[in-house]
Parts: sequence; structure tokens; C-alpha cells
Amino acid sequence: MGLKIETLLVRSGLQKDPTTGSISTPIYQSATFSHPELGKSTGFDYSRTANPTRSALEEAIAKLEGGHRGFAFSSGMAAITSILFLFKPGDHLIVSDDLYGGTYRLLEEVFSHYGISASYIDTSSSDAISEAITSSSKGIFIETPTNPLMKVTDLEQTLRIANKNGLISIVDNTFMTPYLQQPISFGADIVMHSATKYLGGHNDAVAGLVVTASQELSEKMAKIHNGAGAILGPQDSWLILRGLKTLAIRLERQQENTQKIAEWLSEHPSIEQVYYPGLKDHPQYEISSRQASGYGAMLSFTVKNTKLVPMILKNLQVISFAESLGGVESLITYPVTQTHADIPAEIRESRGITDKLLRLSVGIENADDLIDDLRTVLEVPANIEAVRT
Ligand SMILES: *Cc1c(COP(=O)(O)O)cnc(C)c1O
Repeated sequence: MGLKIETLLVRSGLQKDPTTGSISTPIYQSATFSHPELGKSTGFDYSRTANPTRSALEEAIAKLEGGHRGFAFSSGMAAITSILFLFKPGDHLIVSDDLYGGTYRLLEEVFSHYGISASYIDTSSSDAISEAITSSSKGIFIETPTNPLMKVTDLEQTLRIANKNGLISIVDNTFMTPYLQQPISFGADIVMHSATKYLGGHNDAVAGLVVTASQELSEKMAKIHNGAGAILGPQDSWLILRGLKTLAIRLERQQENTQKIAEWLSEHPSIEQVYYPGLKDHPQYEISSRQASGYGAMLSFTVKNTKLVPMILKNLQVISFAESLGGVESLITYPVTQTHADIPAEIRESRGITDKLLRLSVGIENADDLIDDLRTVLEVPANIEAVRT
């Protein structure tokens, strides 16, 4: 029976214990499992290799992304590190230029020491991708929409180029989740998530997920997962499973709120620009509409006057000034000093991550309260006066 995604989400990890019929997956807080006799196993031997709670999460994400096999890691960065272990010294990667700062740092400060190089390209341009491919290019790592400028890559076209050139294609699907976008259906080889964000959804657990599309890649990833051992523990696996169940309704509300806030900010005289793929004047609005079933709940904006930034961050009452995203609570971040601080200033500026840019992760609160919160900090007379002087 082909169940729809809302149903699949709710059924994540459902009734995994036939002995009790427990609806919620039990937390198997065990490092090891006894064997019935020599040469026999229950399927579980040692929890680095497999743990029933983690396996329930891994099966759920593989199904949701339409892939072959899922793997749960201790963080999104552990997931990306493990994916990068697929490459060898001398290999070159094509990487979206506007991406999560931690991914950039990992490539530049860790993997560069192992002879793996990367070119940072505007992957929303397929010509730029084709031009960057060399004889040593072995992989492409795409974030779409990108973080924080919300640039959208055409998945179908890009994955076709990747395929034709024999590149392993990796999509960081953290911002969209499988509820809105399924990169494997466009030909991606690997999809990864920081499950810390929307999949967990409550800002209470750090986790990473990987889904491989083919048996060959699944076997390679399984060796790395068990060999390097950056696995997710049973408690956190349970929290992510619990988060998945409400993903659809959370995202529906979050997107609805985001659309309202994006439209309101676009009209505001103190705001210079709003970056949100759900706005009709977003350069890739058409592509987004084609390849995803929604525009997500992340938006960025620039203020006209930099002096507004500290006032906004200090005075917001409902929206918290904190790193991370995707949870039920709205959070605002300042990429220049937070998520993207490790990208050298001139590179950062040239990519549009300036000191006027703020990133908003919209939660499930009442949209009017969020807009009132922003209105208050943008329009209190003291703030307006401080900006003028
Ligand atoms: C947060 C994030 C990561 C890193 O994940 P962690 O769970 O924090 O290790 C990677 N990619 C994107 C897009 C992210 O937002």
C-alpha cells in the first residue's frame, strides 16, 4: 500500500516490539545483546553496529527519503564527516558556495589535510557547475535552499550533470526535509540531514541522518558508520523518532507563518531585502515550486541600517536570539558572528553574508505575535532615533 508522507511520518518506529505491542518504540538502552548460541544472533550484537531504537529511526528515514538504507549519526557534522570518508586523497568536490559554515570549516580545516579539495560554486547556475568539473572531480555537495541566502539549485538539472560526470551526489536536505523535497527522486546518491533541526523539531537533541540510494553506497556507508563509530545513542534516536511523527503539521504551520512574515518584512521601510523562496520575486521561485511541495520556514533579511542589528537582537521578546533552526520556537541568528564566522570576511562579504544580514527560523507560534515582536523592535521610537543619529 502506497501510504502518503503524513502517514509514513506518523508511523515512524511504530510497534517495533511484537512481544508487548508497544506503540512507541522502546528505548533499548543496552550496549550489547546476548546470543542464543554459537553462530546465532538476534540481529543485534553490539550497539555501535546496530541498536533496535536506532534501527527503527534508520528504517523510517530511508523510507521517507525513498532511499535504500538509513544511518543515524551523533550530529549532522558527524554525518557529513562520515560521507566525506567515501573520498580519497586527490579527489575534488564541487560544493555550493553559500552553505552551512560548519561544512565549509570541515572541508577547509580538516579534509584539506587529507588531500581532498573543494571548489565553492554557485550551484544555482548549472553552467558554473559544468565549468568547475575537472578530471579529479569525484563528488558534488549541494545545499538547497542554501544557508543563509536561500539560493535554490535545480535538482533535476544538477543531478543529471553529476550523473553524466560520474560524481557522487550529496544533498543536504536539512532545510526542506523529506516532507517538502525528496532529492533521491531526482537522482541524488546520498541525502543527509542535521536531524537536530526540523526532524527533531524541538531544539532538544543533536543528531544527523544519512540515506543512501544504492546497495553499493549503503555497503560503503555501513562500513564507515560502524568503523568510525559516530553513531546516535538510543535516547536521542527516540527523540528524533518522536519528532518525525509531527513533522508534517509543524512544517505546515511554520511555512504559513514564514510566508506571512516574509511578506510583511518585504513591505517594511527599514528592511532592504528579504530572502525567501516563497516570494514571487525570488530568483528561483519557479524552480522551487517545481521541485518542492513548499518553501520551508527559513528566511533571511537585510536591514537598511546596520545599527538596527544589535537593537533587534537585544529587544525581541518572543523570538529568541540563538543559533540553530527548525524547532517549534522561533530563533533569530546573526550569520556573520555565529554560523558563518569561520568563513574568511572577504569571501563571506562577496557571497552576500554581510553585517546587515539576519536569519530567522520561524516556529509554530501565532504569526501575529511574531510580526508584532518584529514590528516593536523595528518601530520603537528609541530605535528609530538611534539609527538616525
Ligand atoms: C545545523 C546544520 C548542519 C550541522 O548539523 P549539526 O547537527 O549541528 O552537527 C549541517 N547542515 C545544515 C544545513 C545545518 O543547518
